[in-house]
Amino acid sequence: MSVGVAVLGSTGSIGTSALRVLERQRERFKVVALTAYGSADRLIEQAKRTGARMVGLVDQESGKGIGGFETGVAIRTGPEALVEAATHPEVGIVINAVVGAAGLEATLAALRAGKRVALANKETLVMAGELVLKAAREGGGEIVPVDSEHSAVLQCIAGSRQGQLRRLIITASGGPFRDWPLEKLSRATVEEALKHPTWRMGPKITVDSATLANKALEVIEAHFLFGLDYDAIEVVVHPQSIVHALTEFVDGSVLAQIGFPSMELPILYALTYPERVPDNGTPRFDPVAAGPLTFEPLRKDAFPAFELGVEAGRRGGTAPAVFNAANEVAVKAFLEGRIPFGEIAGTIERVLGAHHPLPAEDLEVVIAADRWARKQAEGCCS
Ligand code: MG
Repeated sequence: MSVGVAVLGSTGSIGTSALRVLERQRERFKVVALTAYGSADRLIEQAKRTGARMVGLVDQESGKGIGGFETGVAIRTGPEALVEAATHPEVGIVINAVVGAAGLEATLAALRAGKRVALANKETLVMAGELVLKAAREGGGEIVPVDSEHSAVLQCIAGSRQGQLRRLIITASGGPFRDWPLEKLSRATVEEALKHPTWRMGPKITVDSATLANKALEVIEAHFLFGLDYDAIEVVVHPQSIVHALTEFVDGSVLAQIGFPSMELPILYALTYPERVPDNGTPRFDPVAAGPLTFEPLRKDAFPAFELGVEAGRRGGTAPAVFNAANEVAVKAFLEGRIPFGEIAGTIERVLGAHHPLPAEDLEVVIAADRWARKQAEGCCS
């Protein structure tokens, strides 16, 4: 019996990697639903190739010409398409690779419907970690991370018991500006920010890796996924991106997960967890070819977005949602050439400074904080 899978954000970088994994593992998994934001042609091509029974386009305008490309395929347009795909009765696992805050409602709906969510959309946990955990408890769903660092942690703690994990060390490549002097950093261009040294990813997360806002999002994500205090989660820069995370246990033992950078392994593990299945999609690891592995401290003065994000996590309530929203708006403004690189962190700082966090008890409060932060950030970027 194969398990039905929905891929949200199937035309993006993670989505296409996920379809490659599912293609190799087609005896175990069956693609049931696919959604994209606006790439109608790509989505139709993917649906034909995978035999998906439902496709969804979030952007209504792009969805206009998509009608009836194949009989028996349900076509949905608009943001509701995400929730519909995520709760499809034939779907057991939802791979959520939607970029940004837009993926939240689908995650909540899937968890309430008892599905496994293979989560590549870390913004979901950052915005509303408590609500996401509550939805999983209530609906019997489970969250399995697709983020490489968190997948590494999950693999390292497999077989250990609750309370045995003492500390996490998440690695960061340091991004393209790891060793840039401060004065040069503030003038970094879009082109330079998009040149990630070790990972090929979409533009939003690549800029987040250049500011290290991505690492702050990952610290918050780890806090919710593994139930650790912020004091027990550390970040270290590791330029080779070979060691994805280190886990320290109560007896002082440290385990690490190692491999050449590839998103296909975390995707596969999220599908098969806690089992492992044979697969040949990831390059064979060769410690000699990997060369020396080095570690260095994160330059907090050069990458202020990191501390701002972790501090928002510590403040809790709606603060992480505000950090996430301000960051999204600032990154978009930077990519569109409206603000310089240094102003991404500047924008986040001003918006967080004006925010009075509320407990993130229901979705309305979180969404209101998200909207408020976007408006504030837009004001800073215009
Ligand atoms: Mg990551």
